[in-house]
Amino acid sequence: MSKTSHNHAWHIDTMMVHEGTHRSSFGETSEALFLTQGHVYDTGEQCEARFNDSEPGFIYARFSNPTVAMFEARMAALEGAQAARATASGMAAVTLSLMGQVKAGDHVVAAQALFGSCRYVIEEWLPRFGVETTLVDGRDLAAWKAAVKPNTKVFFLESPSNPNLEIIDIAAVATIAHAAGATLTVDNVFATALWQKPLALGADCVVYSATKHIDGQGRCLGGVILGSNHFIDTFIKTPLRQTGPAMSPFNAWVMLKALETFSLRVERQTRSASELADALAGHPAIKKLIYPGRQDHPQAELIAKQMSGGSSLIALEIEAGKSGAFRFMNALKLIKISNNLGDAKSLITHPATTTHQRFTPEQRELMGVSEGLVRLSVGLEHPQDLLDDVLQALESI
Ligand SMILES: *Cc1c(COP(=O)(O)O)cnc(C)c1O
Repeated sequence: MSKTSHNHAWHIDTMMVHEGTHRSSFGETSEALFLTQGHVYDTGEQCEARFNDSEPGFIYARFSNPTVAMFEARMAALEGAQAARATASGMAAVTLSLMGQVKAGDHVVAAQALFGSCRYVIEEWLPRFGVETTLVDGRDLAAWKAAVKPNTKVFFLESPSNPNLEIIDIAAVATIAHAAGATLTVDNVFATALWQKPLALGADCVVYSATKHIDGQGRCLGGVILGSNHFIDTFIKTPLRQTGPAMSPFNAWVMLKALETFSLRVERQTRSASELADALAGHPAIKKLIYPGRQDHPQAELIAKQMSGGSSLIALEIEAGKSGAFRFMNALKLIKISNNLGDAKSLITHPATTTHQRFTPEQRELMGVSEGLVRLSVGLEHPQDLLDDVLQALESI
């Protein structure tokens, strides 16, 4: 196999086409899909050397696979991380990143405005194993500080949060975590690696659902955990190998090829979302429009400080609560009702009855998930067609 030599002076777009490419003896142009569970060895000695780590190489797809390794190398380049490990889904990445770092008796602090499944892992799953957890308003730095206990090991947050696009000061929270002897893990799905670099802001670990913008075309589930070599070796490597939430080589191949167009897609989706947000702000049927990138976002200053671009997501509060939101969604002709995001197809979600349905109305209120809130994930359609569709649907309510 021959490897593409790394050149870290390359721009992101260049690295997303070439980084991590590992050619077989056939010299294929496009990265190969190594759809194999395992590998064969010339001798028993070679097999032994692979297992005791004295010879580099592949063993079994639960630990590593050539196609998965190419995807991991390309993701590490995108993030500017030393190391990346791919997982079967975004939730596998979130769960492993947390469980790999804690044991019974430890304490985790997390922001309360989280994707529903992340909240489940923190509020219900970790406590089953004797891990204490505390949820705070992530925007309130004093609340993070006040939540620290002698056994606090991990801070966890999403910024912008799902679905209402709240922003948390990552550098400030990282400083509080480190002063407490804890680490900070950031779920960076909503910002994407293009617009926000949590590791550079002081976080110790970044996780993604690769299902979203990384695939970006609605095909495969996947996740990624990124950090320093030390972080990955200490907390992730062995639990990933031994407990089995590995990414399939097929999904890794899809994701690897998708990264070639990642920056093109996310830039275009963000530009369209920004145009749409500007065109819709102030519409009489919209009670509130939240878009990170507009000056009227309540945390515009912080956004300018820690993000280099906006988002492909817009949160809209429609007049007349759930019935208004449903009438709006049902009247859309081009934009599809779905719970996914980051797709080439524009998708609309009603969080209160889907991603956040298991919470009580009071909990939803605290998370800013009102009955009239819809989350629009802007795709790759022409922005004028999207605007026309939204306007005709608003008209009909
Ligand atoms: C979708 C999502 C996840 C979970 O990812 P899956 O790939 O669906 O398991 C985690 N965090 C955020 C912010 C998400 O949007």
